[in-house]
Amino acid sequence: MKFCHCGASMKRTIKDRIYYECHCGNKIKSESSDALIFEEIYVDVSNLEKFETIIKNSAYDIACTVVKKDCTCGRDYMKRVIVSDGMVSRYTCVCGNIA
Ligand SMILES: [Zn+2]
Ligand SMILES: [Zn+2]
Repeated sequence: MKFCHCGASMKRTIKDRIYYECHCGNKIKSESSDALIFEEIYVDVSNLEKFETIIKNSAYDIACTVVKKDCTCGRDYMKRVIVSDGMVSRYTCVCGNIA
């Protein structure tokens, strides 16, 4: 839960990044301390071993884009990893689920 400078609690929205919005109009991006977000990761699939490692680690990597996607563990966001070959997206969750 995040609080706005006006004192109200802020609503979380997910749009490639996580934003917090307040009814007063204030809107902030989540901070890196939220351990979420930022650039896409492009994975070179020519190195399969590396690919698997990156997919597994991506759930913990702050450099991944967060998308709104329900996971089986109940979280409502997952991290998106773009695979360079064919632009396939994979989604990972901190619970270890890969979609
Ligand atoms: Zn506010
Ligand atoms: Zn999960």
